[in-house]
Parts: sequence; C-alpha cells; structure tokens
Amino acid sequence: MHHDAVRIEHGYHLIDTRAWVRQRTGDPLPELTDAVAEFTRHPVFADYHRQLDTSDRMQLWCAARGWTTSAETSYYHDHTALTEPVRIVLAVDADRAAYALVQIGDDAPAVFLDVTTDDASWLQVEPVDIACPGGHRWTWLNHTALLDQDGTHIRFRDLFSRRPGAPYAECRGCLAYDNGDRDDPCPCQSRYTISCPTCEQRCRLELTDVPTFPARVRS
Ligand SMILES: [Zn+2]
Ligand SMILES: [Zn+2]
Repeated sequence: MHHDAVRIEHGYHLIDTRAWVRQRTGDPLPELTDAVAEFTRHPVFADYHRQLDTSDRMQLWCAARGWTTSAETSYYHDHTALTEPVRIVLAVDADRAAYALVQIGDDAPAVFLDVTTDDASWLQVEPVDIACPGGHRWTWLNHTALLDQDGTHIRFRDLFSRRPGAPYAECRGCLAYDNGDRDDPCPCQSRYTISCPTCEQRCRLELTDVPTFPARVRS
C-alpha cells in the first residue's frame, strides 16, 4: 500500500504529505469542506484585531457548529521529511463523530472523517518502513533506532554498520552504466535507493502503518 508515498532522493527521503493525510482520513466531506473553506477566507478576518491563522479559523468554525476541539489535538507539522507543511485540527461533534480539518500547504482547508483510533497517530511524522522485496522489513523510527518485524528495537549502526541516519545508496546498475561496466542504461526508476542490510536487494520506503477504524476508511 502507499507505494509512492515515500520517495528516496539523493541522501534523504520525502514523505508525500497528501498520502500521509490520506492514511489517517476517510472520504472527503465536500459540503463541510466548502463551508470551512468559505468561512476561513471570510473578509472579517482581514480586519481582525489580531492575525488568526488557518488553525485558529478552523477552530472557530468548529466552535460555531458546536464541535469540540482542543489545543492538544491541533497540530502543525513542517518536518523536513514532508513534501508540504500541514495543519490539522481534530474535532468531535455532538454525536461523538470524529473529524479532521486539514490544510496542506497553502491549499484551502478540507474536512474529512478521522479514521485513526488514537490521536497520537497525528503526531507520528518521522517513522517510515524499509520494505525489501525479499520480505525483510523494518520500521525506521529515527536516526538511531529501528524496529524489526517482531517489534524489537535495533540500533541503526548495528543493522547498517554505518553512520546513523544514512542508509541511502545508489543503484548498482546506474553506477555500472556510469562507469562503463554496462552498455545499456539501467532501467530502474530512480538511482537513489536503500540496500537491504540482510539480502542487499533494493528496498523501498513506505508509510508506517497507523491503527484505524476499518469501517471509516475510504471506500
Ligand atoms: Zn538503476
Ligand atoms: Zn532483504
């Protein structure tokens, strides 16, 4: 799942913010989205005594509908691993239905059902999974630590035998072509990759799973 959600670049990787949001939300809710977008660009905010950012405006819109929000469940991520910054306001209506109001980059805000079982999933930005076609898989938590498939912590330098945070490699086929060791260009899609520390096959990066309510996940 989410095969193009994490792209390996030259010595770093980028998480597609839209895929990250999609992993945590159900179907978009067009009528509510239109309403919140219209509200947040209302001219009254231009004259307001204090500048209200989009998170403030999304919270006001929720309050006017009788939805509950809180500072603890309003987030702004501009992590360098994300393609675009994202603002999130989580809200609950009178029937306890859970919503996520989301603004990606400078887009108009949108309203979705929140499908996560735990608000903390909205704080989870950094982990990505290293997925090997040979069936090996790790959750790469941060610069120094990973989890294996049994959930056991592994130190980065024990697995990759090199400096923390840099498992990136260049495709051997591309390098061989550069060096004149092969005649035809390498057919791979990107020369930047991660080599499996167990079997040396090309790995990809995927979004680390977050727990969700299956009934609310997108159709
Ligand atoms: Zn290649
Ligand atoms: Zn492998």
